[in-house]
Amino acid sequence: MPRGISQSIPVQVTPYESYIRLAERMNRITPGNFPKKTLFLNTGAEAVENAIKIARAHTGRSGVIAFEDAFHGRTMMALALTSKTHPYKAGFAPFPPEVYRVPYAYCYRCSYSLKYPSCDVYCARHLEDTFKRVVASEDVAAVIAEPVLGEGGFVAPPPEFFRIVMDICHKHGVLFIADEVQSGFGRTGKMFACEHYGIEPDMVVTAKSLGGGLPLAAVTGRAEIMDAPGPGGLGGTFAGNPLSCAAANAVLDVFEREDLLARANSIGNRFNQRAENWQRRFEIIGDVRGLGAMRALELVKSRETREPVPDETKKITQYCYEHGLITITAGTYANVIRVLVPLVITDEQLDEALDILESALEMVSSTRPAFAEVVSK
Ligand code: PLP
Repeated sequence: MPRGISQSIPVQVTPYESYIRLAERMNRITPGNFPKKTLFLNTGAEAVENAIKIARAHTGRSGVIAFEDAFHGRTMMALALTSKTHPYKAGFAPFPPEVYRVPYAYCYRCSYSLKYPSCDVYCARHLEDTFKRVVASEDVAAVIAEPVLGEGGFVAPPPEFFRIVMDICHKHGVLFIADEVQSGFGRTGKMFACEHYGIEPDMVVTAKSLGGGLPLAAVTGRAEIMDAPGPGGLGGTFAGNPLSCAAANAVLDVFEREDLLARANSIGNRFNQRAENWQRRFEIIGDVRGLGAMRALELVKSRETREPVPDETKKITQYCYEHGLITITAGTYANVIRVLVPLVITDEQLDEALDILESALEMVSSTRPAFAEVVSK
């Protein structure tokens, strides 16, 4: 950086090398073999807002379709796109208009009471119907989705889901935005979760792991789409500041040096081995799911009714906390325990954490009348 120029002068005024280098790297590593451009912001929510602005500028349309159980952040547009009411949305209305919501492929709690695969992924195909019954496709700029639900409970849709959604989008000139804020950077065993689905989104939104702890977020997309807003339309004083860009370049260096994607898969496998055993022992575990190192347990009263148990879930996280393990719940019904461990965790550390979680499951299950019966099965 030239002497005398303060770091608070944004890149749009005085470009610097670390931003350009990082943008080029993001263009390379995100899915899609086409010309791309990247814009850096500070937070995931800010990046979501900017992706919507870009989609509107490019298409000249205003509508946005988001999914049930989605989480996209806490700013006003991001909240409009977010699904869960408490604690995120309640009391903060009104939200920006022109947001429409459709069911996600949450197979464990299918909105249409169908079963995969005999459903033929009806929830994805239903988007055509939405364009007839809810909002005209020519009024819709974009569909935004998390490739794996984060706050919504680590739900990974069936393999065809996003391909079908994207095909319908493109048939109608609607853009597809993947929100990889939580699922990006190796969490699922691939650099980006959408790679599991063989899709190339028009824009990918990233944050969290990108800056390795410093505030940084990005929108990476097709060059012709990213160029739609006019000069000065996008930006921000600290958006993509030199310090955060240096940190993110260091993060990508580590990904190049160490095989963190393989590590994510081995973490996932290690978790799954334990979770399969837990599922045999504990009736409370309704569903075990996720991709790579992004894993979750959905907890229920009984496997038949699938009734969520937020209170017992809280007891488990409290027990874990008191025994040295920080866990965090997820899911619209606050009954999902998510496991999102650092990819640099050792096997010993992971086993120690899973031992505590297992004791917590034992503790809660022992208070249930059916426990002895399930254990003896
Ligand atoms: N999108 C997703 C999928 C997220 O998980 C989050 C945060 O958890 C956000 C957006 C918002 O990111 P931030 O908290 O950086 O604004």
